[in-house]
Amino acid sequence: MVGCSNLFKQLGISLKRRTSSISTSNTLIASSFVSEKKMDYSTSGHHQQNQHQQEAVDFVDFLNASPSPFHAVHEASGRLEKAGFEKISEKDEWHLKKKGKYYFTRNGSSLVAFVVGDKYQAGQGGFSIVGAHTDSPCLKVKPISKKESVGYIEVGVQLYGGGIWHTWFDRDLGIAGRVMVQQHDGTYKHTLVHIKKPILRVPTLAIHLDGSANEAFKFNKETQMLPILATAAKSSLNAKKEERAWGPDQTKNHHPALINVLAETMKVEARQICDFELCLFDTQPATLGGLYDEFVFSARLDNLGMTYCSLMALIQSCNDVSDESNIRLISLFDNEEIGSTSAHGANSNLLPCTMERILSSNVGSKSAPKNIKVAFEQAVHKSMLVSADMAHAVNPNYAEKYEENHRPQMHKGTVIKINANQRYATTAPTSLILREIARQKEVPIQEFVVRNDSSCGSTIGPMLSAKLGIRTVDIGNPQLSMHSIRETGGVDDVKHGTDLLKAFFELFPSVDARVFVD
Ligand SMILES: [Zn+2]
Repeated sequence: MVGCSNLFKQLGISLKRRTSSISTSNTLIASSFVSEKKMDYSTSGHHQQNQHQQEAVDFVDFLNASPSPFHAVHEASGRLEKAGFEKISEKDEWHLKKKGKYYFTRNGSSLVAFVVGDKYQAGQGGFSIVGAHTDSPCLKVKPISKKESVGYIEVGVQLYGGGIWHTWFDRDLGIAGRVMVQQHDGTYKHTLVHIKKPILRVPTLAIHLDGSANEAFKFNKETQMLPILATAAKSSLNAKKEERAWGPDQTKNHHPALINVLAETMKVEARQICDFELCLFDTQPATLGGLYDEFVFSARLDNLGMTYCSLMALIQSCNDVSDESNIRLISLFDNEEIGSTSAHGANSNLLPCTMERILSSNVGSKSAPKNIKVAFEQAVHKSMLVSADMAHAVNPNYAEKYEENHRPQMHKGTVIKINANQRYATTAPTSLILREIARQKEVPIQEFVVRNDSSCGSTIGPMLSAKLGIRTVDIGNPQLSMHSIRETGGVDDVKHGTDLLKAFFELFPSVDARVFVD
């Protein structure tokens, strides 16, 4: 977790930057703005506002450190380690202790972290689970990416997930992901790479050559969405000697210039690069924006927004488990944007296996439960899953697209998502439990349903709920432009989301004890 003094420093920088940009264009506005800000500081709401800004600035840091799911998991792991979580592995036997804090990763792109309550007894307690996802729509480098056309070196890409692809044109793109690097001892290591320099770009066609561009921007996803990496002329001028000495496979699959820049960034030799999974990303960093710094402008808010809130809620609640009878657990899955069916997606055995392994330990009891299958069934019915994935804030220019009684607003809290056709897994008892938890901690909450004449997204909620038979509520913070390369969220909702999930961890067992449904 980033320390407070650091946060204040960053917050100071962000406020200063904003006022100076205004003062360059209009000095009068600048001075009145500053005095208005001073007045704000003397009001009682200021302390709360400041806390919201701090949380949002820390979230912006998290976003900028996470250009790919691998980086998001790496960043989350670092924060968990700082908070005292012990890294365990699915390959090993687990020796769990009361008040123990543990985490593990799968494929380097999914992560599970959990805390054992001090009053947890093997075979007795349930699970308080928050699930989110680490992936976002993006362009991914093809296995054979080498392309050249009319004097340009291009990089072949696949489309991952359901992005608003036209937003990827004319952006300054970098590359990030994981590379399998051969070590000198012959082993292979998963290594992260993050090229922050804008080395790629998907160019639009000039309006002069396409008069219809403003009526409908249409393009072929295979042939007209290819990013350019370099000009062939500069590429041959800068070609390195080693390139010609390479093994045939690498030069056949990817342009040497691409392999070289990866190798330089990772400080390894080009020959060591064996394989990779690379995402393209917008190099414009996430930032606070809007006149009062009330927005978060960034890529990947869906779903690093709820990944961040889940992670921070667990970290912030992990030291106060003396009265806790449950396991508090977060599961951050890769591959939600493509349907979750992978070895590390929500449709895998990741969550059920984790629950089973925790149940089969003898933590809090003399022995492990004799019949794990029965113990599992019992535990599931004492548990609840909060499926945390971003929601749609009302867009002022398209308000008619939203059901008139369900138009989530920025800063007004996390949204409970409900759908009669179970595209969201929320039921009356699960939404009641979450609303009661929010009421007790005075955290704001909103509700969302889609119009009957509109399509509806879905989440990991219905899938996990059906797979495990676990009670589930679907929630998420409101945002604009979901799946665009540059999305917009509300600053206050970052803290609202964290506070809500923290309250869920702290209060679920006690609130659940008052709800009776057979
Ligand atoms: Zn999502």
